[in-house]
Amino acid sequence: MDMKMPAVNQCNADQCAYNSDNQCHAIAITIGDENNPLCDTAFKYSTKGGVPELAGSVGACKVTSCKLNKSLECSSGGIEVKMHSNNPACNTFQTK
Ligand code: SF4
Repeated sequence: MDMKMPAVNQCNADQCAYNSDNQCHAIAITIGDENNPLCDTAFKYSTKGGVPELAGSVGACKVTSCKLNKSLECSSGGIEVKMHSNNPACNTFQTK
């Protein structure tokens, strides 16, 4: 398995503390529970956090129902996170 963490290529959750200019700046995010690919790292806070000069990566993914999930890790080359009904969710999710 390629051990490189997949990049978060884009995220439009502009209310998230890790987000600026449609980019995630958390070192490693976690996606989902067993069925829903929501961003688990997202949260609203009074100030922005993360590493501004760094693009976020996917540290772990718990969505076993995704075709790209291998041993609870994301095997994609990179993901896109988008707001779905007020929640940031992985848009790269693929149904098995
Ligand atoms: S991917 Fe998750 S942690 Fe990163 S900016 Fe988007 S909602 Fe926030």
